[in-house]
Amino acid sequence: MKRVFSGARPTARQHIGNLLGAINNYVKLQKEYSCIYCIVDIHALTTLQETDKIQGYIRDLALDWLAAGIDPQETIVFVQSDVPEVTELHTYLSMVTPLSWLLRVPTFKEKAKAQPDNVNYGLVGYPVLQTADIVLYKAEVVPVGEDQLPHLELAREITRRFNTLFGETFPEPKAKLTEFPLIPSLSGKSKMSKSEEGSAIDIAHTAEETTARIMTAVTDPARKFRKDPGHPEVCNIHTLHKYFTPAEVEEIGKECRVAGIGCVDCKKLLARNMNEALASLRERRAALAENPNYIKEVLADGAARARVIARETIREVKQKMGLL
Ligand code: SF4
Repeated sequence: MKRVFSGARPTARQHIGNLLGAINNYVKLQKEYSCIYCIVDIHALTTLQETDKIQGYIRDLALDWLAAGIDPQETIVFVQSDVPEVTELHTYLSMVTPLSWLLRVPTFKEKAKAQPDNVNYGLVGYPVLQTADIVLYKAEVVPVGEDQLPHLELAREITRRFNTLFGETFPEPKAKLTEFPLIPSLSGKSKMSKSEEGSAIDIAHTAEETTARIMTAVTDPARKFRKDPGHPEVCNIHTLHKYFTPAEVEEIGKECRVAGIGCVDCKKLLARNMNEALASLRERRAALAENPNYIKEVLADGAARARVIARETIREVKQKMGLL
C-alpha cells in the first residue's frame, strides 16, 4: 500500500468542522493506504503563545482521532517532536531551498501581517519543516484541500531539487485532493475556526454544551421575528442540517422561506440530531479519556515505529550529502 502522511497542529480542541473534513477522511484513508498521522507540535510553536496548554491539546487531538476511528494498530499516530530526526532533515532541506521560494508563500505573508511582533524564522521555514515531515517517511500521498495545494507544490519543488542535487532519494509527494466541506462559524462570520471564540462546536463538548452553542448561534439576520420569511442559504444552522438532518434539509429550507418553521425549533432539531450523531463517538472518547496511560502508550508506540523509518531516511540522506 502507498504511504499517506498528514498532520494537524495542536493549537486548540478539534471541532465538528475538523471532524467532517479532515478526521473522517483520515479514517477512510486507512482502508486504502498505509497511513501516518502526526500531531505537529513543533509547527504549533510558530503561532502558539501559551505553550503550557500544548500537552492538553495533544492529548485532546489524540482522543478525537482514536474515538473517531483511527486505528493505532494499523496507522502510525505520533507526536512530531518525539521523532527529532524531522528537525535534522529540516536543516538539511533548508540548504537546498532558496529563500525566495519561501518568502513568496501566501500564508507566510498573511501570518507575518497577523503577528507583526513575532515574525520568527519558524514562520518562514514552515514549508521546509512541512516537507521534512512528509519526506522523512517517504510518503507518496498527502491529503489536501484545494487551498493547501501551493504548499504541497513547494514540498514537491524542494524534493525535486534535493533529488536532482544528491540523487533520487525521496518520492515526490502527490496531492490527494479532498473536498473539505465548508462548515460555517456559529457567529455567522466565515468558517468554523479554532481561533474565533464561540464560533465552534468541539468534538469534546457535552450534549448540553452543544445545545447551548446551537441555541445562541447567529441565524439569518433578516429573520428578526418569527413571522419573517428566512433565507436558508445564508444561515449556518441550515448548512449544518445538511450534515446532521440530510433527509429533511430541503423541507426545512422550504419551511424557513415561508416562515413555516421558527429558528428556535429549527435549532432544537439540529441540536438533537447532532447530539445523536456524535453520541457514540463521544462515548468512546470518554471511555478512552479514563485511561490516560493508553493515549501515552499509543503515542509512544507510534513514535517508536515512525523513528525506525526516520533513522533509515536520515542515514541515507547523510550518506548522499557526504556527511557519512
Ligand atoms: S428557520 Fe432554520 S434555516 Fe431558517 S433562518 Fe432560522 S435557523 Fe436558519
